[in-house]
Amino acid sequence: MQIDSLEVLAVKATMEAPYLQLQGIRKSFGEGDNSTLAIGGVDLEVHQGEFLGIIGPSGCGKSTLLQIAAGLATPTEGRVTFEGRDVTEPPAGIVYLFQQYGKSLFPWRTVIDNVAFAIEHRPGMTRQKAREECQWYLEVVGLADAARKYPWQLSGGMQQRVTIARALAAKPRVLLMDEPFSSVDALTRLELHALILDLWQKQRFTAVLVTHDVDEAVFLADRVAVLSRRPSTIAEVVETELPRPRDNLATRELPRFIELRHHLLEQLLRRDA
Ligand code: ADP
Repeated sequence: MQIDSLEVLAVKATMEAPYLQLQGIRKSFGEGDNSTLAIGGVDLEVHQGEFLGIIGPSGCGKSTLLQIAAGLATPTEGRVTFEGRDVTEPPAGIVYLFQQYGKSLFPWRTVIDNVAFAIEHRPGMTRQKAREECQWYLEVVGLADAARKYPWQLSGGMQQRVTIARALAAKPRVLLMDEPFSSVDALTRLELHALILDLWQKQRFTAVLVTHDVDEAVFLADRVAVLSRRPSTIAEVVETELPRPRDNLATRELPRFIELRHHLLEQLLRRDA
C-alpha cells in the first residue's frame, strides 16, 4: 500500500473517531461509608459541530460531568476521549464557561485585559498585541465601548458577555458551558441565547450546555441528553429537530417546541418526585 493511501486512511480514521466521548463514567465523592455516588454510569458522545444540551434534576451531577469532560475533574471510573486522545487534564481546544461570571473575572483588570488574558500567555504574544486581537471579540459581544471599564462597573449580563468574549478569544473547538445564563435576568437571558447561537453558527465550534432550564436546552440545542436522579445515568437523548436559525419568539411557538418542552418537563418532574 502507498504511504499516501495510509495517510488518507489515518485521516479518515481520525475523522470517524468519536469527537468527544464519555464512556462508563462513574464519580463518587468522599470515602468509605461517607461516600456518595453522584454519577452512576454515563455513556455520552458529543458530535463535532453540534450543540448538545444536558438537563437533569438539581444535584444529579450535571456540573460534575461537564468538569470531567473538560479534564477539570477525574472520574472514579470510566474514560473521556477528545479527538481520539484520553483526557487526563484540560486539553487544548476545550474551553469551560463557568456559571459564576462574577467570580471568573479579575476585578483589577479592565474588560479588555480580562479578555486578553485568554491569549496573552501564548509564545510571541504581548499584552498589547493580545488587546488588539481581543478588541474584535468585544465588538462581537457588543461591548466595544466598555473595553476600558472594570468588570464591577458592568451589569451582570454585560459581565457574562465579557466571559463569553474571553472564551471565544481562546478559539475553542469545544465550548463547555455550565449554566452560564442562570444568574442574569429573563430578558438578558434571551439576548444571550441569541448571541451564543449567532456566535456558534459563525465560529463553528462544538457546544455543550448544562442547564436545569428545559426551555433553554430545547431552544439552543440539536440534541438534549436527560440525566436521571443521582446516581445519574442517561435517561434519554432527544433530537430537537427544530429549524435554524432559531428565533426567540417564533421558535418557542412551534408545535414541536411545545411538544418537546412538555415531554422533557414531564420527565424531570417525574424524576424529581
Ligand atoms: P448538578 O450540577 O446536577 O446540580 P453537581 O454536579 O453539582 O450536580 O453535584 C452532584 C452531586 O455531587 C451533588 O450531590 C453534590 O453535592 C455532590 N458534589 C459535587 N461536588 C462535590 C465535591 N467536590 N465534594 C463532595 N460532593 C460533591
